[in-house]
Amino acid sequence: METKVLLPTQENIETVGQALSRGALVGIPTETVYGLAANALDGEAVSRIFKAKGRPADNPLIVHISDISQIERFGLVREIPDGAKKLMDAYWPGPLTIIMKKGDVPDEVTAGLDTVAVRFPSHPVTQKIIDAAECPLAAPSANTSGKPSPTTAYHVLHDMKGRIPYIVDGGMCEVGVESTVITLAGETPVLLRPGGITPAQLESVLGHIEIADAVLNKLRDGETAASPGMKYKHYAPGARIVLIKSDDDKYIEYVNAQKGTGAAALCYDEDVGRLEVKAYPYGKKNDYDSQSMRLFTVLRKIDEDAATLVYGRCPDTTGKAMAVYNRLIRAAGFEVIELA
Ligand code: AMP
Ligand code: MG
Repeated sequence: METKVLLPTQENIETVGQALSRGALVGIPTETVYGLAANALDGEAVSRIFKAKGRPADNPLIVHISDISQIERFGLVREIPDGAKKLMDAYWPGPLTIIMKKGDVPDEVTAGLDTVAVRFPSHPVTQKIIDAAECPLAAPSANTSGKPSPTTAYHVLHDMKGRIPYIVDGGMCEVGVESTVITLAGETPVLLRPGGITPAQLESVLGHIEIADAVLNKLRDGETAASPGMKYKHYAPGARIVLIKSDDDKYIEYVNAQKGTGAAALCYDEDVGRLEVKAYPYGKKNDYDSQSMRLFTVLRKIDEDAATLVYGRCPDTTGKAMAVYNRLIRAAGFEVIELA
């Protein structure tokens, strides 16, 4: 199958909208990462997403809408809890996914769970594509399963070439990491995945929320993940990544001592001038927006260069940085060295 990369002209948006409503898969831009979309009401189309990505069948998808009223119109959930309404008012459209009790959604989308994840993206092109398709779109990130999520149309082409008919090029994703996922299907709200909306932003609307153990820690053997996606090795480039927890000087000293071994550094922008090994800067030290926007592009570059061992700076774990830490610690397979 030939894969066409289209600019988001009105004509092209209508072309992909029709393709989606007929059951095709399309790579679409969003403000978080690129998605691999299918008509969420068509179980057979949705099952092709799992095939194209090599995604485990028990990992459910997020349903994307372009207007809050579509939740009721398509009967996506059993009811919208009060907390969810407040979150929608505060943060939609935007990088926040809300899990609620499932309504009339094919089992392929929810991997058989009795809950469904819903998001209203803010990217104008995403909204136009959903409008043109005239149906909600189920879409996971458009990468091969396990690999870093795509933040440009080129990344999607790299992973999906020959597997899907269209990719819409909406430029580089602004947030750069996947949406925040919170569940409101149980008694207390639980953060399942950190993203562009921070725990403090959620708590300012909901009061106290819990943070799922798997957000910051490795699941123990036999422990079940509240969010199935959390149990898989994720965001992993081919290289072994080791995170270094230390101050600036100790990190530089540790990495420079590996000079000549072929090891590289996944560092802050400010470190580059002091490093004597190949440097892959992923953002400014205290600018978490720049880190989340660039992280996946840099992880993909490490893959392209076939680097084998990379020492990464361990980001902060709170606030906006939590989303970056959550992705990097998985890319590193939870391997961390703490320098005293
Ligand atoms: P992706 O779109 O690739 O970022 O994957 C969607 C994420 O949302 C995965 O981590 C899923 O496990 C999670 N997810 C989707 N639906 C549900 C659900 N009903 N309950 C818990 N987690 C979900
Ligand atoms: Mg994904």
